[in-house]
Amino acid sequence: MAKLPSVILRAGEDRRVRAGRPWVFSNEVLMDGDAKAIPPGALATLRAASGEKLGLVTFNPHSLIAGRLISHNPEASVDPLFIGRRLARAAALRDRLVGVPFYRLIHAEADGLPGLIVDRFGDVFVVQANSAGMEALTPVLLEALRAEFQPRGILLKNDSPVRTLEGLERGISVAAGEVPDRIELRENGARFVAELAGGQKTGWFYDQRDNRAFMASLTRDASVVDLFCYAGGFGVLAARAGARQVLCVDRSQDALDVVGDAAALNDVADRVATRRAEAFEALEELAAGGRAHEVVICDPPAFVKSRKDLKAGVRGYRKLARMAAGLVAPGGFLFMASCSHLVEPPLFAEQVQRGLQDAERGGRILRSSGAALDHPVHPALPETAYLKALVLQLD
Ligand code: SAH
Repeated sequence: MAKLPSVILRAGEDRRVRAGRPWVFSNEVLMDGDAKAIPPGALATLRAASGEKLGLVTFNPHSLIAGRLISHNPEASVDPLFIGRRLARAAALRDRLVGVPFYRLIHAEADGLPGLIVDRFGDVFVVQANSAGMEALTPVLLEALRAEFQPRGILLKNDSPVRTLEGLERGISVAAGEVPDRIELRENGARFVAELAGGQKTGWFYDQRDNRAFMASLTRDASVVDLFCYAGGFGVLAARAGARQVLCVDRSQDALDVVGDAAALNDVADRVATRRAEAFEALEELAAGGRAHEVVICDPPAFVKSRKDLKAGVRGYRKLARMAAGLVAPGGFLFMASCSHLVEPPLFAEQVQRGLQDAERGGRILRSSGAALDHPVHPALPETAYLKALVLQLD
């Protein structure tokens, strides 16, 4: 293999990497002409200021997260076998945790493949390369996926806004085989439909799998409102679990069409209604009916995408909690989630509490959770645990 370029840390900046952190920020690197000349996404040997080799990184001189550690072994060769071993390890864990081949296969750093997301839909794989390093390694990854899983199709869903931070173009393309527009998946014993190229993110939010199961366990005979329902992961499962009626609300007609298909596949179409609306407008309309629903589910998109949105976004969660609480019957349940990684759990819980105060509702937190287990967290990157979910009972 050709000799790799070196990325040299400033004096003293090797401490965090030695303590296990897999990221190197650009201000920790000796950003001289040589470092700046490394092509974005290239593999490089990471060195302490002394010259000692610390490992292998993918490097992007234009990104804030300049170095992403891919191996502690500076001599590792990142070939299809190397990536294949990480894919196999990740698949073995998911097969044990989830049991059906519908899951997040690779959750970036926690699975040893920094910047990479792979969601699995049976024999179809949806890939998001969110760093220049993973972009450069995509051909190697595709070869490894082919060798490991013999997929029917692989979709590169490279439309995430984070790619812009890495200087990457955004686009969607079929990288191998055949990728259907829509695919059926199984989750919590139910049948669902994901729109792949046309859907949100990878097409399905596996991160809510366990939260959906928990909420479904509360829904027998309940009237349920599922706000920001997307493809019906919460609402359709609730109907299957015995809810007497479910209203799924989303602004996207494509999403609601998929909800209808999923409801039919599970023989609950007679109990699942859809409404195309802006969530806050739907909440205002539903308020006229009073505290009429035993279960209200709110799983919005990230209200805080960057620091500048923090204040307004945080107010959004408070308002959502207030309006949603107003629909909950006494003794009923409210589910509130936030996937904004900048809103930390205590801040989120505070907004939910304030919303309840505004709505003059008391109650208790029953459950506080995060993403499902196929979204593991790198132990040195606790801040990447983005999903927060609270379940409350209201009086
Ligand atoms: N709860 C879903 C995931 C929600 S993703 C699940 O379990 O899979 C967020 C959804 O909110 C998307 O489907 C998007 O179309 C919808 N959305 C975003 N902003 C909205 C708004 N202001 N009003 C209604 N729906 C909205």
